[in-house]
Amino acid sequence: MTDDYIRRNAPETLAAQALGLEDAETGAVVPPIHVATTFARGEDYEKTQGRSYIRDHGPSQQHAEQVIAALEGGAEALTFASGIAACTAPFHALKSGDGVAVSRTIYHGVLTWLEVFGVERGLHIDYFDTGDLEQLGDILRHGRTKLVWLETPANPTWVITDIARAAEMAHEAGAVVAVDSTAATPVLTRPIELGADIVCHSATKFLNGHSDVIAGVLVTADATTELWDRIRQHRIYAGPVLGSFEAYLLTRGMRTLFLRVPKQCENALIVARYLDTHPNVEAVHYPGLQNFPGHEIAMRQMQGGFGGMLSFQVPGGRAEAIKVASHARLFKRATSLGGVESLLEHRKSSESDVTDTPENLIRVSTGIENPDDLMADLEQMLSVL
Ligand SMILES: *Cc1c(COP(=O)(O)O)cnc(C)c1O
Repeated sequence: MTDDYIRRNAPETLAAQALGLEDAETGAVVPPIHVATTFARGEDYEKTQGRSYIRDHGPSQQHAEQVIAALEGGAEALTFASGIAACTAPFHALKSGDGVAVSRTIYHGVLTWLEVFGVERGLHIDYFDTGDLEQLGDILRHGRTKLVWLETPANPTWVITDIARAAEMAHEAGAVVAVDSTAATPVLTRPIELGADIVCHSATKFLNGHSDVIAGVLVTADATTELWDRIRQHRIYAGPVLGSFEAYLLTRGMRTLFLRVPKQCENALIVARYLDTHPNVEAVHYPGLQNFPGHEIAMRQMQGGFGGMLSFQVPGGRAEAIKVASHARLFKRATSLGGVESLLEHRKSSESDVTDTPENLIRVSTGIENPDDLMADLEQMLSVL
């Protein structure tokens, strides 16, 4: 696999072939899972293909990283033991006294990490309301803000942030922009092309797509920055590395990414439109709906769909939402997202106290099932109100 192969072929081709790698020894079109933790040096005492120990580099991990870097149009990718390990790595790499601007609506685990550990480690954390970039302008401090962290579409209300505009503003202030693109996937959005410096994924979700691997990944636009070097060192010396079997499964999962995500988007749009007209639904949050506040930006920033994630609010509070969820027959009542099976959950039950997610909100991850079956299940669930 060469740079030329990557340049010549479309992302769906790169994904389907996992970059076309063949096993040199056997000709196998599926590369083996390399379980070795250590790699022999030659008689000249040089490393074999630059590898010596798995915490630095493993072949199965590197294969997954190369696929993701190619799909995101990045210079380099690093896999991590989980999505949260990937999300928190840039914050670990910062120094005491550094400023970070964090969008308020993001995956709750990152907010919790910042509250529990980030403040004590000397990070100056300012929050801005996602979707209102004026606020980002107000909190950016030239030379002091080192990192802007955002997620788009963002958990759990799928608020859209204009990546290109945020990147412009951050760069003017001398800060780096990292985008958690878990919900968008490289199928719909390539943040680096829009100006982002780092892209983050919980690969547990859409990238793997089968709810059977926990993994994370960061992709950088530029592999020569000091921050990226410190992230690399953090992975080596704190050690949140991905296992070889997980790396293999992730690569296997990504081969069908370009079939799964469009179908999941299609199902999400059908379900969102259905819910939007339902008398027992108070609000629907989905970037594909024309009345959604970030719809215009999403039209520009997302190609071929608006993602497989949506949320809706039912009249009432916690009790009513849980009552609806408890009647699910086809949807699995489970947290997480991005798998081929549809899931729903009372979101607040999964989050820590740091969020202000409404108690009447149900989060939905649409799989690849027949949408009529999904709507029939929602219909009988909503009829209990
Ligand atoms: C799930 C998720 C994470 C955390 O990933 P894990 O793989 O569960 O550690 C981070 N960001 C987003 C947007 C997520 O959905």
